[in-house]
Amino acid sequence: QSVFSRIDAVEEKVHAYITLMRQPALEEANIADQRIRAGEIKALTGIPIALKDIYCTQGVRTTCGSRILEHFVPPYDATVVVKLREAGAIFTGKTNMDEFAMGSSTETSYYGVTRNPWDLERIPGGSSGGSAAAVAADECIAALGSDTGGSIRQPAALCGVVGMKPTYGRVSRFGLVAFASSLDQIGPFTKDVEDCAILMNVIAGHDPRESTSVPVDVPDYRDYLNRGVDGWTVGIPREYFVGGIDPEVRAAVEQAIKTVEGLGAKCREISLPHTDYCVAVYYIIAPAEASSNLARYDGVKYGFRAAECRDLLDMYKKTRSAGFGAEVKRRIMLGTYALSSGYYDAYYKKASQVRGLIKRDFDEALKDCDVILTPTTTTPAFKVGEKMDDPIGMYLSDIFTISANLAGIPGISLPCGYSHKGLPIGMQFVAGHFEEGKLLQISSAYE
Ligand code: GLN
Repeated sequence: QSVFSRIDAVEEKVHAYITLMRQPALEEANIADQRIRAGEIKALTGIPIALKDIYCTQGVRTTCGSRILEHFVPPYDATVVVKLREAGAIFTGKTNMDEFAMGSSTETSYYGVTRNPWDLERIPGGSSGGSAAAVAADECIAALGSDTGGSIRQPAALCGVVGMKPTYGRVSRFGLVAFASSLDQIGPFTKDVEDCAILMNVIAGHDPRESTSVPVDVPDYRDYLNRGVDGWTVGIPREYFVGGIDPEVRAAVEQAIKTVEGLGAKCREISLPHTDYCVAVYYIIAPAEASSNLARYDGVKYGFRAAECRDLLDMYKKTRSAGFGAEVKRRIMLGTYALSSGYYDAYYKKASQVRGLIKRDFDEALKDCDVILTPTTTTPAFKVGEKMDDPIGMYLSDIFTISANLAGIPGISLPCGYSHKGLPIGMQFVAGHFEEGKLLQISSAYE
């Protein structure tokens, strides 16, 4: 009830949610209350959690921020939804997002813009901006998002909360609406590092229904908290501190480096030589995979269908023309172009090869470092509308986060300061495959 009264007080301004689940949530809260009185307490009993509107939720519409799924009500739950529910969580609702998770500002949603709770004139980041804003504005206790190129870490940084993208394959994507299948990962938004560990304990692990989820044991992530980082080596990639980075972000991250040294870790400069290619590689691979994944929205199987169609082809055309927004169409065009015969070798194949080099950079660097520290974003939150007519500028919002998705490695963003306008600034740690524990260990020491 307290979360819903907070939602009633601020949601009109923030617009973090697309769909609220008030009635079922309050009913489940009563049941949780009885369980707690009976001493039956699980990891998340009674904890109000928000879900990005990209997870299938049985009986609750799942729009993915798109008109084309406006009336889509999935007949099943995503694995993460099942796991959270089994751990006792209560769902407050489905949060706003960029359409099909394509964007960095939550402005491409068909359901309107989400505002940054720290400054309502500004964007909360994206694509999981609704989840980040909901946590920052106390409209839930924690939330889930998805991260294909930065969509958890970037909004976490801009909203002053903790956000983790786990290793590719650590969390099942079953029931996650696909954007770019080789990059997508699910992860938590929380108010602190301990909550992040608790949520990771619940959502991580192999799922027989998802073939890229990896059968690697899940540790108790809370074991990594409060252990310190004495004797650790932290890599600072020189390519992440060049032009284009806001001086206040740079200063906050440099201060964070000093703090980490104060904890007993050795920080040393490293090089990730293929950093310059990350954004270009991502914007071939992600749209290519998206163009294929989005082929299923044809007016037949899901949600929206255009009226008055002459024949099948006309229906496809009209449905997709009216159902998708401008950014999604841009990606589909880029992606089909990169995959078309004659261009595949020059674009998609080349990008995949360079992706291998980017991954190798991290493998090499992480031989000598426990973790790598970078800024999460180049600037604090920008103004609503500022980059809507500048797709390249928008794409560059993820310049520091995209590489972890290309390499498949885990990353976490946590708050490390404020700009002079009082806007939150985030820093990022990345580690080797399945080393989420290390990220939590250093983040908890820093926090
Ligand atoms: N902003 C990036 C994009 O638009 C990443 C989005 C994401 O991680 N889902 O593709």
